[in-house]
Amino acid sequence: MSATNLVEEILVEETAGESKSIASQTFPDEVILDIENVSISYSGNPAVKHVSFPIAKNRITSIIGPSGCGKSTLLRSINRMNDFIDGVTVDGNFTYAGHNVYSRGIDPVEVRRNIGMVFQKPNPFPKTIYKNISWGPQINGFTGSMDELVEKSLRQAALWDEVRDRLHESALGLSGGQQQRLCIARALAMEPDILLMDEPCSALDPISTSHIEDLLFDLKRRYTIVIVTHNMQQAARISDYTAFLEMGDLIEFGITDQIFTRPNQKRTEEYVTGRFG
Ligand code: ADP
Repeated sequence: MSATNLVEEILVEETAGESKSIASQTFPDEVILDIENVSISYSGNPAVKHVSFPIAKNRITSIIGPSGCGKSTLLRSINRMNDFIDGVTVDGNFTYAGHNVYSRGIDPVEVRRNIGMVFQKPNPFPKTIYKNISWGPQINGFTGSMDELVEKSLRQAALWDEVRDRLHESALGLSGGQQQRLCIARALAMEPDILLMDEPCSALDPISTSHIEDLLFDLKRRYTIVIVTHNMQQAARISDYTAFLEMGDLIEFGITDQIFTRPNQKRTEEYVTGRFG
């Protein structure tokens, strides 16, 4: 089955019986990672239940839903960050490059190299700006020009002009918004396919937030982005696709515009119009 068919099939299934089906629209995106029937629990307590949706390549997918609905749990599972938490069980498939990232024989370090992560709170290393970028590639055996890689990564994260004269100063001297862009640059230096972002703007002021949103828009030309956000305006502004979770269930997945303007599920409508959550 081609990637396009796969997405169409999911959309057909989820919009079956609804008059305003988005399945009839052309849906040309390639699927880079397919989340299939994923359930995740902590010591037997389910946090994510039988969730399936595709992640389209070079697009931004938002995961939205009320606090505690499983957004971060699902996001962290995509690149096996949950491996570090005791008692986590992950069932189902995350099919990426033809393999389930949880299959035996798959190296989780390699998965995380290809699928990077940016966290809610900027977490630069207490080292220089330069070393924040160079450290990961260096331990991964990068043999090219490190200066070029550092510059390229900082440029891609729209930070180069602000830090080019202070590359060897501590990263901790940067503002919160700059630190978050540095963390994005650090993730990009590993040349990932997919960037996972867990509420990357929640600790930032509105101007830094708008910088990051503009940046994400640019980055999707080269990368695929999956972002967890509790900010619905942000999801509506920046994402191409939206998955709405509630209490661990996927209520609806679709093109962002449809989710926000013509949701198929009553629960989605109530959530996006602010009637609950
Ligand atoms: P969200 O990101 O939507 O706020 P989370 O994924 O953080 O939701 O949490 C989903 C559920 O899993 C919640 O009930 C939460 O208490 C539980 N949970 C999250 N992290 C852990 C953990 N490390 N150990 C045990 N339970 C957890």
